[in-house]
Amino acid sequence: MLPYGRQDIEPEDVEAVVAALKSDWLTTGPEVAKFESAISEAAGGAHATAVTSGTAALHTAYAAAGIRPGDEVVSTPMTFVATQSTACQHGAKIVFADIDPETGNLDPKAAEAAVTPKTTAIAAVDYAGHPVDAPEFQRIAKEAGALYVEDAAHSIGSTLNGVPVGQLADLTTFSFFPTKNLTTAEGGAVVTPREDLAARARNFKGLGLVRDREKMRMPDEGPWHQEVHEFGLNYRLPDVLCALGTSQIARLGAYKARRQEIHDRYNAAFQGNPNLTLPGVKEGASPMWHLYPLRVEAERRRAIFEELRNRGIGVQVNYIPSYWHPVFEDMGYKRGMCPNAEQFYRQEISLPLFATLTDSQADMVIENVLEIVGE
Ligand SMILES: *Cc1c(COP(=O)(O)O)cnc(C)c1O
Repeated sequence: MLPYGRQDIEPEDVEAVVAALKSDWLTTGPEVAKFESAISEAAGGAHATAVTSGTAALHTAYAAAGIRPGDEVVSTPMTFVATQSTACQHGAKIVFADIDPETGNLDPKAAEAAVTPKTTAIAAVDYAGHPVDAPEFQRIAKEAGALYVEDAAHSIGSTLNGVPVGQLADLTTFSFFPTKNLTTAEGGAVVTPREDLAARARNFKGLGLVRDREKMRMPDEGPWHQEVHEFGLNYRLPDVLCALGTSQIARLGAYKARRQEIHDRYNAAFQGNPNLTLPGVKEGASPMWHLYPLRVEAERRRAIFEELRNRGIGVQVNYIPSYWHPVFEDMGYKRGMCPNAEQFYRQEISLPLFATLTDSQADMVIENVLEIVGE
């Protein structure tokens, strides 16, 4: 089965991992700082903190944002559930706002209408890699006295009006799961232009341990002493995986170019087909395309999906609206709340898209899609 996404592991990646394994540090060593500075560079110089997954990155970002029980987080239903579940772990209440059907991204007007005095964060997602209208979310968050969080699990390497993802929000999170744009097997990062938020993120991912004597409440306890002021977790990404990440991230530009080529190839083949809706692109956006979200007739989506799978094409659906998950249903969230997201979900099929997909594999996908949906 041709997968919808997969990693690219080159010999230099293997060498980098082996070198880390043979070093004195398997974790908390020099490879962590190296990877964090490479992430920072990719994110336009923002402070970067490596963590163990994209989910851990979101949990850490909400901790840094100070999300507490009763706080409201305005967010998009068109995402993987981790965008919200991690805020719920801090006791937040999620307020869903609808998407812009052109891109699948959270609609700033809908988000603004969902803001209340309890809103402490707005959490958008760069769906498929297409950057959201971050300046609008920044404005809305600022006016609400809230922080703007961007789940950029799909979009490391994307830019908006020339500004890299990572510089567009108060807190941005990445995922390095194998299907994403680059991988550390499991891994993620929190980036922020703000030093205070970066310090809070680092503290949370390191169990809340304070080692800086100046900040200690008991500085004279002894040279062994470290102390905790706020609870955190152990979300430290090991050196072995950071070494893989540093090796991978060097190819980010090449990955972006190749993903764009495949995206263009799909677009050229599907353009003008009355049975298909293509992914939109907003002016000023330069996406690192993580997904190719094709939309078909809702009534035929399931049959088309199954037929493509039968033919060995590993399509995927991204995503079931978050609040359709039983955990939200059990809290009283009702279907029908975000009609654009629900319609988008009913029509969506993600086609195979990854850096090592060949032209002939892409053409095989195109041929089968057109054969099944009709021209
Ligand atoms: C993959 C993903 C996550 C979670 O990342 P993991 O590394 O799998 O924990 C969060 N949000 C979105 C939008 C994702 O695609």
